[in-house]
Amino acid sequence: MNPYDPMREWIIYVQYIYITAIITNFADSFGVSLSRGMNIRVRFPPSPTGFCHVGTARMAILNYLFAKKHGGIIVFRSEDTDKERSTKEFEADIIDNLTWLGISWDEFYRQSERTEIYRAAIHTLIVQGKAYVSEEESKKEAGVMVKIIRLKNPGTTITFTDAIRGDITFDTTELGDFAIARAEDDPLYHLAVVVDDADMRITHVIRGEDHISNTPRQILIQEALGLPRPLYAHYPLHLAADRSKLSKRKGDVAVRSYREKGYLAPALLNYLATLGWTAPSGKEILSLDEMIGEFELADVHKNGAVFDIEKLNWFNRHYLQALPLRDFALESDKILQTSLHARGVAWNERIATSLAPLIRERIAVWEELRTFADAGEFDFFFAEPKLEPTYIAQKKVSTEDTVRHLQSVKKLLSDAPEGAYNDTENIKALVWEYASREGRGAVLWPLRYALTGQERSPDPFEVIHLIGKEASLRRIGTALALLSHI
Ligand code: GLU
Repeated sequence: MNPYDPMREWIIYVQYIYITAIITNFADSFGVSLSRGMNIRVRFPPSPTGFCHVGTARMAILNYLFAKKHGGIIVFRSEDTDKERSTKEFEADIIDNLTWLGISWDEFYRQSERTEIYRAAIHTLIVQGKAYVSEEESKKEAGVMVKIIRLKNPGTTITFTDAIRGDITFDTTELGDFAIARAEDDPLYHLAVVVDDADMRITHVIRGEDHISNTPRQILIQEALGLPRPLYAHYPLHLAADRSKLSKRKGDVAVRSYREKGYLAPALLNYLATLGWTAPSGKEILSLDEMIGEFELADVHKNGAVFDIEKLNWFNRHYLQALPLRDFALESDKILQTSLHARGVAWNERIATSLAPLIRERIAVWEELRTFADAGEFDFFFAEPKLEPTYIAQKKVSTEDTVRHLQSVKKLLSDAPEGAYNDTENIKALVWEYASREGRGAVLWPLRYALTGQERSPDPFEVIHLIGKEASLRRIGTALALLSHI
């Protein structure tokens, strides 16, 4: 098609008048509303060129808290103009993971579906002499000439007030006539963002400080198009433990990988929200509603926070502990059952139920339970352990003494009534005096090893309490039989 077809020009011109009218109308209304502090509109504008990054989640959370605090509207804008790198799969991942975190939005747009709007704006800039088409050698391929549309930069000094960082001034001369599109229907990032922010009546642009240097370019485009300027708030990015930029090499960056490891959504949400923002109340553990209630942009830190996995684990442990035990057990049973099944260890509902509080004390993340369970660390609760005879006696204690201790303990345990097995402390009381007299290590080591077959495990009284009198006596008997063959 001839790009300078007069009919097409006319249609585009009419479209532009129409769009400008809408934008101006919106601009007027939000000019007024801003001064009243109402009708706040923010945006989540991820580029779907990768899985939902923790940085994307943080951007969404900060915008979400701000919008909800002020009864505002949230626009999700999929910035998919980079046709080579954007995919529907990444877009779906971002939507899915933000939803999982409990974040929602009111409106949804895709830049790839808005080409006409950008075309009209680019065309107007060209018609008005504010942009021009330039023929240049391609940066990718030497000797190949390509068309680029550049903004005529008036070279002014631009100052904008950032809600987090205060006034920021740029001399725009050095930006030169920067590119805004490859063709009228192929806008570049800055142009699309500016046109969209105005068209979507965005009042507050809350984004990472990596976008500060983009802001003067975007303001120049706004001014060339006669569009209003939103309020900007650039927050510091969070950093890897060595204070460098967070990247895949330095740990997980995808929300989905935290989700797969079994972090709880409210824990990750709480951690990401308070990473670089402190609630005025000083509280660290906050529900979404509490965060909304306390959120102010002015309280966002000016220095970059370090993404600290230990701290995230601390949050997750808190949220795991706060789960009703029944809900906790439902999930821990699932993990344990799968793991035991893989090794052919029989499941025992009664033991699993008693084990749940113990597991809850021990883990910060479900992934830890999976790791411990797959290493067979819980198998002895469900099945007789395989004992290595030479490990039964404590080092430096003779086999004869060990046999004597196990026999004595076995007798103490078997003489005790069933009732004594209801409580760990009662079980301890049965053998404590004997162990203290004969040497705790010499007595309790073989007992614990006979019961668990592990060099490290919970204390023997806890194990006896869990597996019960009968299984405990049987295991001690097995150890004694093995020792008789040494
Ligand atoms: N799409 C941009 C990004 O993913 C964000 C644009 C903006 O916040 O203005 O980094």
